[in-house]
Amino acid sequence: MKKNLFKRITAMTMAAIMILAVVFAFSQPVKTQAEEFAVSVTDDGLEYMVTPNNTVSIKGYTGTAEEVIIPEMIDGLPVTEISCTVDAGGAFEGNKTITAVYLPSSVTSIYPYTFKGCSNLTKVNLPSTMERIANGVFDGCSKLSNIEFPEGVQTIGMSAFKDCTSLTNIIVPEGVTAIWENAFNGTKNLQNIYLPKTLTSVSPAAFKNSAVNHVLYGGSEDDWNAIENYDTNFPTTETAAIHFNAAADAVKATDTVVNPDCTTNGYTVYKCSLCDKEIHAEFVPALGHNFENGKCTRCGLVKLTGDVDENGAVDASDALIALQVAAKLFIPTETQIADADVNKDGSVDASDALIILQKAAKLID
Ligand SMILES: [Zn+2]
Ligand SMILES: [Zn+2]
Repeated sequence: MKKNLFKRITAMTMAAIMILAVVFAFSQPVKTQAEEFAVSVTDDGLEYMVTPNNTVSIKGYTGTAEEVIIPEMIDGLPVTEISCTVDAGGAFEGNKTITAVYLPSSVTSIYPYTFKGCSNLTKVNLPSTMERIANGVFDGCSKLSNIEFPEGVQTIGMSAFKDCTSLTNIIVPEGVTAIWENAFNGTKNLQNIYLPKTLTSVSPAAFKNSAVNHVLYGGSEDDWNAIENYDTNFPTTETAAIHFNAAADAVKATDTVVNPDCTTNGYTVYKCSLCDKEIHAEFVPALGHNFENGKCTRCGLVKLTGDVDENGAVDASDALIALQVAAKLFIPTETQIADADVNKDGSVDASDALIILQKAAKLID
């Protein structure tokens, strides 16, 4: 009887312990995603996390500077990667303020989409130890005009330079073996490219909508023909001047620099030492008109009432801008507001667009 009681107490105690254990386990606070990925922020607005290897991973940027300098050490630990935001976006993705980012040599990896859509970015130095240009890393960086690849790069990832419309002249370094899908898709001003003999494969659409029509190639014509090419837009001897066994620096800058004016870009003239072809590179954006009392001080253009885009004529595109301003589709400048408010009633609305259209159609003066 006593034994039985003892057994029952033991069993009850065991059961109680088990219930308690279960309750305890479930009452452990479940970490939310935000807690799991708790990020710290530097005084400069760099969001970062310490990795299990005791290195620092940059996760994002909340600062407002145009030029961002990433330090070599944060909290006494080396900064080794530019990774992604907590919701997996690029660390600087969509930042339209930054113009330059300086990376320390301690960074060895830059995640995909890090600079995607940074439409004012003109300059980034890539660390010398990088082996892969990540997917989409500069996708849509329309002002990026020059990129120097580290020597150890082996692959150029998918969409890495897609729609980088300011790239004009690129040297792909020795050692690169693969150029992935859409890597240079939409590089509308890319005129000259050096490709190394080590290149063995080119993926579909890598050069779709690219302007490239002059190629310096490090290998022979046989090497060229042996490249596994899946891109129907890849330059051929019919679509481009291809120099085989060429040096990477065969295209050189000349002393000729054409300055920008009100409406056209300036550029530096480069020349190919193998065929004399002129290549315009390093574009400087057009200056825009400088109106004073209704007349441009540089080119003398007289401003017409309703010429919102300042192209010297009143046309449907001006009416469209007025409509977009009326619909608050973008934030107009004060000049645009003044130009679009043709009836001078203090606001831009559909009636202004109508007047502009009537002017364009010469129905009114
Ligand atoms: Zn040439
Ligand atoms: Zn002008």
